[in-house]
Amino acid sequence: MSFLRRNYYSIEGIKMVLGVLSLQGDYELHVGQLKSLNVDTIKVKTSNDLINIDGLIIPGGESTTISLLIDKLNLRKALEEYCSKKCVFGTCAGLIMISNIKDKIVKPLNLISFDLERNAYGRQIDSFTKYIDLEFDRTSKFVANFIRAPKIKSLNDDDTEVLAYDGNTPILVKRGNLLGSSFHPEIGNDNRIHKYFLKMINNEKV
Ligand code: GLN
Repeated sequence: MSFLRRNYYSIEGIKMVLGVLSLQGDYELHVGQLKSLNVDTIKVKTSNDLINIDGLIIPGGESTTISLLIDKLNLRKALEEYCSKKCVFGTCAGLIMISNIKDKIVKPLNLISFDLERNAYGRQIDSFTKYIDLEFDRTSKFVANFIRAPKIKSLNDDDTEVLAYDGNTPILVKRGNLLGSSFHPEIGNDNRIHKYFLKMINNEKV
């Protein structure tokens, strides 16, 4: 069984290796989700770590800190280059990092354009869980955790696909090689969104 699953996430027998940016935040939970899909991971901390990975996840945490660390560790140029070509999934603070938000402290990677407001759902104590529908898999609801989440106020182009909404608000979006969520898909044991990201990398019809 595990052999079959391992084969599924490989390209002609070559196993995938995913990177999880591991400067700050809940990167370990992403590593756990990927492990549940039999995918090897590299915790990305230097530009060398980007060389052999098939896709990158930028986790939730604190975008001000992640942004400062990217510059402190001299990672920005390598990240910008990587993200312009390969598949990248930004979750919560990671969504802020892939956006083009104008912020006093956060310097985003400017990969996807939408109006985004940091901390728009409130503070840590206002965290909440929502049962949401995933456009690509309606077999059951997905439990989405929002923790000091950013809110997508509007999309600025027609190429951004919305894969999940909270009411009228997009909360899971895809644009080309980029995937972003305002919630935390790494919390819990439902790995469907990570699986979707792997399919994007494999260029399967998703
Ligand atoms: N509010 C955080 C920020 O602005 C994001 C919170 C999170 O990733 N859970 O970076």
